[in-house]
Amino acid sequence: MIKTTKISGKIYILEDRFESGTSLIIGSEKALLFDTGCGVDDIHAEVRKITDLPLLVICSHGHFDHIGGSRFFPKVYLSQKDRNILDTYNEELLNKWVSEMEDNIQDDTQGIVFGCGDWKQIAELDFDRIDLGDIHGEIIDLPGHSHGSIGILLPELKLLLSGDALSPIISLIFKNHGTVEEELQTVKKALELDFDYYISSHNGNLLTKDVLKRMAECLEDTENKKFYKYSYPKPPYGEGYFHVHSLGDEPVGLIVEKHM
Ligand SMILES: [Zn+2]
Repeated sequence: MIKTTKISGKIYILEDRFESGTSLIIGSEKALLFDTGCGVDDIHAEVRKITDLPLLVICSHGHFDHIGGSRFFPKVYLSQKDRNILDTYNEELLNKWVSEMEDNIQDDTQGIVFGCGDWKQIAELDFDRIDLGDIHGEIIDLPGHSHGSIGILLPELKLLLSGDALSPIISLIFKNHGTVEEELQTVKKALELDFDYYISSHNGNLLTKDVLKRMAECLEDTENKKFYKYSYPKPPYGEGYFHVHSLGDEPVGLIVEKHM
């Protein structure tokens, strides 16, 4: 059960039943799938309903809700800097997460076997440019949410795919996360890039640099801001502190592990 949103003939957003978003970019010669979802739904079959072009599959980072569907593909690329996440974000954790999600969502996921095993299909991301024919992409390091988080800048589309790295609710509590300062540098770097819109994995809207500007404000001067205790109630059970910066169309906030 995957929800597909067509942004244009070249850009699709696919969300699995637990709202793990992936982006599909259709070039003239190849298609790019950015992230594979949490793995409960056959994302490959869904992609094949849209295109039969050769497929390049790249994960934004190593958290399980972005790599779980990698088992549906023969080869998937991930930054080497997030490789260590795969040691603990394993099949057991994925299944535990799914069973807890089912408490909230009545569905038919009972008995899903992820079969991700040792993630043999996940290869090192060892290139920094992609070529889909009429669309080109540049891999951009976006460390903060995780050390190995990357984005893909698509100049012909004036679009940046960003995974969780530029989520308006900035989350620095999950495995392999970086510092507030590192995330601030990443947001500033993104502001310098040439695009009109960016896509963040857990947000169905096309986001703009106005959101990034508020995120930069949120990350500045954190010692003098008010934080509330926060816990993520499902595996991997992150604990931390939450600061709400501003609401509006896209709420902006920051979750950190330690009190500022
Ligand atoms: Zn993540």
